[in-house]
Amino acid sequence: MQYVSTRGGAPRAAFLDILLGGLMDDGGLAMPERYPQVGAAELAAWRGLSYPELAFEILRLYADDISAADLKKIVDRSYTAQVFHSHDITPVRELEPGLFIAGLSNGPTLAFKDVAMQLLGNLFEHALVKTGTELNILGATSGDTGSAAEYAMRGKQGIRVFMLSPHQKMSPFQTAQMFSLQDANIINIAVRGVFDDCQDIVKAVSNDHAFKSKYSIGTVNSINWARVVAQVVYYFKSYFAATQSNDQQVSFAVPSGNFGNICAGHIARSMGLPIRKLILATNENDVLDEFFRTGIYRVRPSEGVQQTSSPSMDISKASNFERFVFDLVGRDSRAVAGLWRQLDRDGIFDLSRTPHFARIAEFGFVSGSSRHADRLQTIRSVYQQYNQMIDTHTADGLKVGLEHREAGVPLICLETALPAKFAATIREAIGQDPEVPYGMAGLELLPQRFCVLDADDVAVKNLIVSTCGAATV
Ligand SMILES: *Cc1c(COP(=O)(O)O)cnc(C)c1O
Repeated sequence: MQYVSTRGGAPRAAFLDILLGGLMDDGGLAMPERYPQVGAAELAAWRGLSYPELAFEILRLYADDISAADLKKIVDRSYTAQVFHSHDITPVRELEPGLFIAGLSNGPTLAFKDVAMQLLGNLFEHALVKTGTELNILGATSGDTGSAAEYAMRGKQGIRVFMLSPHQKMSPFQTAQMFSLQDANIINIAVRGVFDDCQDIVKAVSNDHAFKSKYSIGTVNSINWARVVAQVVYYFKSYFAATQSNDQQVSFAVPSGNFGNICAGHIARSMGLPIRKLILATNENDVLDEFFRTGIYRVRPSEGVQQTSSPSMDISKASNFERFVFDLVGRDSRAVAGLWRQLDRDGIFDLSRTPHFARIAEFGFVSGSSRHADRLQTIRSVYQQYNQMIDTHTADGLKVGLEHREAGVPLICLETALPAKFAATIREAIGQDPEVPYGMAGLELLPQRFCVLDADDVAVKNLIVSTCGAATV
């Protein structure tokens, strides 16, 4: 499989060539040059597979420059009952006939990002050991992504993680989750400042190209192709769990922010998985809902982003959206490059009166948004009707999913986090604390390991230099 850039200005490359990179050389995103097609024979053969077996079958189509034996080992190591607390890895449960929740959040950090990140950790280690190189991952987090990255990279050979977070501004649970890690290759840096200060430092260090290359600085952000393709697997797995035969169609409801998760759904559908609708749910930050309703993509300035009770969906622009637009415009990379030039200049592009947007229904997308009051109401009614607690993001997905539900079509809502991560809103909705699962109850009592620095990129660079030591680079 070869990968091309959505903007057409970068050479074709293999999976391992794009694995460690972020943006392609022309500023675009990596896309497979075609989607492998899955027909009746594959669906029949795959229906009974375990999660790691299914992951192997799907990933080998996209990562054909990793030997089958190595890929099998990587996948088996990533998807264990020990890490994900069940053999199903992403167990599907039925709320009522035809209405399902796919539990994607049973990994170490209780959010769906673990599913892709655990694989990424093992893929990175494989690539680095093979080439005898090292990688220093530098990231900024307000909670979720950083902890998923740390749990995926802890103890990995050739990898260090320098994770910046705003000092004393994460929840006690999130703080404990990250800072209790004692692995030598995980370096937690609490920055005296806010999340934006952390992000500015990452940008400043990454823009120092000499430093970046000397110290092999990399990232694990959501545009990474391997993260997207890893998520394709649970669309297949959930489909098999919610249906009896491969001629049935299902719809998925997906709480969305950076468009990574639902992009994987689009890919699964493009491969031939019988998905009827991909129901995209946003919170108050509804830039994607606006596009799918109107054809107008209007990114918000960062000060225009609302802080909500489903914070992992608080985005100003959706970093993976370019991948879908590439397909929507018939893979015309000149058109994509033009649209993103316009976006950089004006903050907006409008496809509403184009033949492309006229075809949007063929892609199966519909959308809606959910606000704080909807979220509370949905959490409350799920608790009352089904005696189950769901988290705030999942509630947004379910609320919008139900608005688009069709008789006779099973609806699968993706659970993107567990309620324990967002206890305050759960209390507001139902007057009770969510249970803290998987023996994490004592987490906040464990010793914590972190250093505190001023919001200053030089201080962070100095820490990287002293940690790495001159000899290792
Ligand atoms: C990251 C995240 C999302 C958004 O997923 P995207 O792939 O960015 O669309 C939704 N819910 C939770 C809990 C998340 O952590």
